[in-house]
Amino acid sequence: MKNAPFKHLSVLFFASILASTLSAQQPVRRCATVEYNKLKEQQNPALAEARQHTNQLIKQYMAEHASENTRSVITIPVVIHVLYNINLQNISDAQILSQIDVLNRDYARLNSDTTLTPAAFHSVAANTGIQFCLATRNPNGGPTNGIERRQNTSVSTWSNNDEMKWYVTGGLDAWDRNKYLNIWVCTLAGTYLGYTQMPSVNSDSSLDGCVVTTRAFGDTQYVTTPFHLGRTTTHEVGHWLGLYHPWGDDGGTCPWNGGNDDFISDTPPQASETSGCPAFPVYDACSPNYPGIMFMNYMDYTDDACMNMFTQGQALRMNATLATLRQTILTSDGCTPVGINEVNHETEISVYPNPANNELYVTSYMLYEKSAVEICDVFGQRVFQLQTSNLKPQTAINISSLAEGTYFLKITSPRSVRATRFTIAR
Ligand SMILES: [Zn+2]
Repeated sequence: MKNAPFKHLSVLFFASILASTLSAQQPVRRCATVEYNKLKEQQNPALAEARQHTNQLIKQYMAEHASENTRSVITIPVVIHVLYNINLQNISDAQILSQIDVLNRDYARLNSDTTLTPAAFHSVAANTGIQFCLATRNPNGGPTNGIERRQNTSVSTWSNNDEMKWYVTGGLDAWDRNKYLNIWVCTLAGTYLGYTQMPSVNSDSSLDGCVVTTRAFGDTQYVTTPFHLGRTTTHEVGHWLGLYHPWGDDGGTCPWNGGNDDFISDTPPQASETSGCPAFPVYDACSPNYPGIMFMNYMDYTDDACMNMFTQGQALRMNATLATLRQTILTSDGCTPVGINEVNHETEISVYPNPANNELYVTSYMLYEKSAVEICDVFGQRVFQLQTSNLKPQTAINISSLAEGTYFLKITSPRSVRATRFTIAR
C-alpha cells in the first residue's frame, strides 16, 4: 500500500515516456506556407491588398468556366535547385525524377492509391489536367537537365527566410517564373516539410516557387516515412497553383461563423488540419455530418500514404491560376529541347576589341551561369581570374596590368568549358 502512489507515479512516468517516444516516431506534417505568406503581407500591406485582388481574379475565372467539362493538358516546365551540405543530401537524379513522376500521377489521378478514396468522394475526385516536365532548356535558351546543384559547407539546415533562393546568400537564384516552376530542395530547419510563395499579382519574382525539405522529396532513396511518397511536393505545388488548406488556417472557425474558406465548393468545411492516417469517416465541428472531412485531400496534413485526391473544384482553381496569374507558363519553351544549331550559340565566346588595349569586353551566354573566367598566357600560366554570378551575358575585364602579347580567355560553366584567343597590343 505504501508504495502504491509511487507505483502510480512510475506508471505515469513511463506512460509519458511512451507517449513522447510514440510522438517522436510519428512526425506530424508541417507546411509553413500560410505563416510565410501572412508574414510577407504583414511586412508589406500592399501584398495583402494584392492577395484580395488575386482571389477576385481567380474567382471570376472560376465562375466563368465552372461548367466546362473538358480542359486541355497543360505541362509545366520545372527546375530543381538542390542545395546540400553533406553528400547524402545531394540527392540523385533518380530521386528527382521519382518526384516528377509522383506529381504527374497525382495531378492526373493516375496514382495507384485512388482505390483508397472513399466512395462518398468519387464524384468530385479530379484529374487536374496539369502535368510537369523537367526543363530541357534553361532561361538562356541553352540545354539543361532541369537540375542545378550547389554545395554549401557552412549551412546544414535552412530557415523559412528564403536564403536558399539567392546565390549571394548561399542558395541558387530562381529561374524566370514566367517560364518555370522553381523548386528548391534543401534540408529545412525544425519539422517543416516545405513552404511556397502563393501566386499573387505583384509578388516577388525572385522568391517564386516551392521549397521542399530533402527527405520528403521524391519517393525513393533518401526519403523518410511517413513523408516518403512525394506528397509534400504535390501539396506545395498545389499552393503554387493557388490552393489553400481546406480548413482555412483560422483556428477552427467554421465558414458560416466567419471562418476562412479554401474558396472551393466541393471540399467539405473543415475546422482544422488532420494528422497521421485516420479511418474514414472523420467528423469535426465544421463537418458534423456524413461524409465528414476530406482528410485524404492532398492539401490536408495527413501522412503521404493517406492522401490520394484533389477535387474538381481544386482542379478548376489551379487551372484558373494558370489562366490568369501564371498565363506565361502556358507558352513556356522550358521543355522544348534545344536544337544542335542552338547549342553552338549557347557556348560561343566573343571578345572585343581584339587586339585589346586596357579593357576587354567578353560576351557569352555561359556568363549567365555561375562560371569561372580565366585568362592564361601562352605558357598556360593563369594571369587573371573572375567568378561570375550575375545574370548578364557580358562583362568588362580590366587588362591594363597585363603585358602585350597573346592570351587565352577560358570560361568554365557548370556544363562546359570553352576558350578563345586574343591579343593585347598598345
Ligand atoms: Zn500547406
